[in-house]
Amino acid sequence: MLDAQIARVCIAPAMIISAHSLGMGAIAAFGTEAQKQKWLPKCCKGEWISSFAFTEPGTGSDPKQITATAVKDGDGYIINGTKRFISNGSYEGPILVFAKDSESGRPTGYIVDKFCPGYTVSEPWEKLGWHGGPLVDCYFENVRIPGENLLGELGNGYPILQYGIAFGKIGMNAIALGTTLAAYEEALKYAREKTHRGAPISKFQAIQLRLADLAMLYDISRWTSYKLGYLANKPKSPSDFAREAAQAKVIVAENSRRAAEIAMDIHGSYGLMEDYKISRIYRDAAMGPQIEGVIDMQKIIIAGEILKG
Ligand SMILES: Cc1cc2nc3c(=O)[nH]c(=O)nc-3n(C[C@H](O)[C@H](O)[C@H](O)COP(=O)(O)OP(=O)(O)OC[C@H]3O[C@@H](n4cnc5c(N)ncnc54)[C@H](O)[C@@H]3O)c2cc1C
Repeated sequence: MLDAQIARVCIAPAMIISAHSLGMGAIAAFGTEAQKQKWLPKCCKGEWISSFAFTEPGTGSDPKQITATAVKDGDGYIINGTKRFISNGSYEGPILVFAKDSESGRPTGYIVDKFCPGYTVSEPWEKLGWHGGPLVDCYFENVRIPGENLLGELGNGYPILQYGIAFGKIGMNAIALGTTLAAYEEALKYAREKTHRGAPISKFQAIQLRLADLAMLYDISRWTSYKLGYLANKPKSPSDFAREAAQAKVIVAENSRRAAEIAMDIHGSYGLMEDYKISRIYRDAAMGPQIEGVIDMQKIIIAGEILKG
């Protein structure tokens, strides 16, 4: 939850850490001992910053639609394709890329050294919120990697994706939780400082009700995030954890968007001015529901688990 405290102040470093943990977490969970020794120490020291690259121009939700390819070439693989909206793609370090393997025809995970020959990135995207956290498209043009960089087994990328994206939601939730807290704190500060006929606007019951809503949204998000962190240490099963992560993501990301709206209402027109911190928080809060699995896809995961069997 350190990431939530960082996000409370500034999302850019929180986003970098969250995405970095996603890449490192997958190598730690699915990598061989040699892969862990090669990639993780420098990542843990922050000398390398990792990435996790699933999304493509054609899809950010459906692994079956992946078009990046990995073709067997002697004892290694040749990777081609474009990965869209990749966090930390412009930093040195490993990138975990999902591509369709030529033998199994199914998504498979490969570890690629960023800035090896054939790897290039776009200019950073100009985002609505989360400014400062770099987001680029990554291009793989005949990138050759040794066979030892295959992560897990051929054709077995889906469980890595499911695991990675589910665990990644711990970081996403931390960011949304920090955003909710920031919205709450800014609203409370403004309600105490802004006066109307000589008294703070917090005297109005309408403002008080909004402050109560903000406190409740924050509390629900906090406990939901803690619960997910607790379950991550002892998941009942990968699919059960994926459902818990999906549920937590919906609750915490939507609470954060709602909290920013309420805090904006307390600010009135002042909230629309860049001079006021809530304008930035409002833009930042719009991001969470749309990334690392959009809200609808989370509900589809939850429903799938409910109806299973
Ligand atoms: C700041 C930021 C950081 C990001 N970092 C990364 C990263 O590090 N790595 C990475 O791989 N990606 C990253 N992304 C990409 C992001 O995770 C995806 O864009 C996101 O998951 C949504 O994918 P999409 O935009 O392609 O949506 P789509 O998959 O095109 O979905 C669009 C809409 O269609 C609906 N839809 C799609 N499929 C179905 C279906 N089967 N059933 C019902 N409805 C459906 C969805 O609910 C959604 O409403 C990042 C994005 C941002 C903005």
